[in-house]
Amino acid sequence: MKVLKFGGTSVGTAESLAHVKEIVEALTEPAVVVVSALGGLTDKLISTAKLAAGGDASFRDEMERISERHHKIISDTVAPAKHKEVLAIVEPLLAELANLYKGVALIGTLPEQTLDQIVSYGERISSVIVSRIVEGAVHYDSLKIVKTEKWFNRNIADSALTERLIRETIKPDAGRVAICGGFIATDRDTGEITNLGRGGSDYTAALIAAALNADILEIWTDVDGFMTADPRIIPGARVIDTLSFVESMELCSFGAKVVYPPTIYPVFHKNIPIRILNTFRPERPGTLIADPSKKKAEEISARGVSVLRGVSLIELYGPGIENVPEINSRSFNALAKNGVSVLLVSQPTPAKPFSFAIASADSENALKALYDEFAPDMENGSVSEIRTLPEKAILAVVGESIGSVRGIGARISNTLQRAGIRVGASTHGASSANHSCVVAETDANEALRLVHEMFFE
Ligand code: ADP
Ligand code: ASP
Ligand code: MG
Repeated sequence: MKVLKFGGTSVGTAESLAHVKEIVEALTEPAVVVVSALGGLTDKLISTAKLAAGGDASFRDEMERISERHHKIISDTVAPAKHKEVLAIVEPLLAELANLYKGVALIGTLPEQTLDQIVSYGERISSVIVSRIVEGAVHYDSLKIVKTEKWFNRNIADSALTERLIRETIKPDAGRVAICGGFIATDRDTGEITNLGRGGSDYTAALIAAALNADILEIWTDVDGFMTADPRIIPGARVIDTLSFVESMELCSFGAKVVYPPTIYPVFHKNIPIRILNTFRPERPGTLIADPSKKKAEEISARGVSVLRGVSLIELYGPGIENVPEINSRSFNALAKNGVSVLLVSQPTPAKPFSFAIASADSENALKALYDEFAPDMENGSVSEIRTLPEKAILAVVGESIGSVRGIGARISNTLQRAGIRVGASTHGASSANHSCVVAETDANEALRLVHEMFFE
């Protein structure tokens, strides 16, 4: 049994949907297909909601275009005999969406819950359409199957409940492929519509693959596989034939957008391999993500490089920071209790402040947590200052055991510094499969180009 996920890039046009139909109808084993919203639609649903909330009447034209796009896709891809049936489901959903926009325009604000409701129509509608394009498919409603819980101010998957509901509900059968929307979910306590975060359809597919003990999870997208760097920034990036789970987790967590980071964990946990494939060139082998084969020391090398933007560096100054283990554990605990994850911790050196990187979106929470934690130390002078440096990016060089290669950090720093790029904190990271360093966000693309050249060209 396998799970296939088709992203927005694969379900955006009649042409791409023809590929999806061909790929899915050729399957001979039981399968579940997870689809995203039509390409670009989630962004459009959000921007239209903002227009409505801001009192800009053009939201009505935008809604009209959203409706037309869906009608056109249906008439271009669904067999005429099924038009009536599919429109009977899709038109009421589009009417609900239009009403939500009108409500937002009237109130003039856009509560988070309303936005979550609005974006859900993307996958609710696309999954119905795809289920009527693919011969013999059965549609499942993800809102009833995928459950989230509140964690600080975020929604995160309730994996145990979701696993149970998936097992109870989805019964994949050879010749009757199960189709459902990715990304969308409901809150386990309130039943309100939520989602798994932008790019979250990959994660829906991974939760289903893990729950049903799939043989493989296939992520179908618009590139030939996982590449040595983002091909939009590095045109010479190459497809990687195999990656270990840990390598892919590191690359995704540090900005390689091809797979949504939480996706890897559920399948890794069950040792279910992932294959990244190109919907437009299905004959290509793609990238296989699986357990690593043991490497000899001389075979250890970088497999890919990536950049994570929107990062801030936090620095602690004062005589007390020399007690690194204590400062480390107190900072981490204070941050974890406030839902802030640390992305990178610098290797301590005597001349430098104690520093670590977090997502800039977490800055305010992080500073508050640290001021609370270190209030007594600031009072007695052992911590003199806590400083935030925004607009940073983390550059990550990833490869199984790369952290154990002697001098790797110095080689990367020297290359960047020779090109006039300042390197902030630098570290082997939490995993030995990642060596990362902090650079200014404005230097990120050039830094990526230089390290890609250093390892792959
Ligand atoms: P989908 O709609 O299929 O989910 P995404 O846009 O989320 O597609 O992911 C695919 C895109 O990820 C590619 O088009 C590519 O531009 C980008 N990308 C970023 N980093 C990488 C990488 N290391 N390898 C391959 N693609 C990458
Ligand atoms: N449609 C959602 C998004 O654009 C989820 C996804 O595509 O994975 O973020
Ligand atoms: Mg994606």
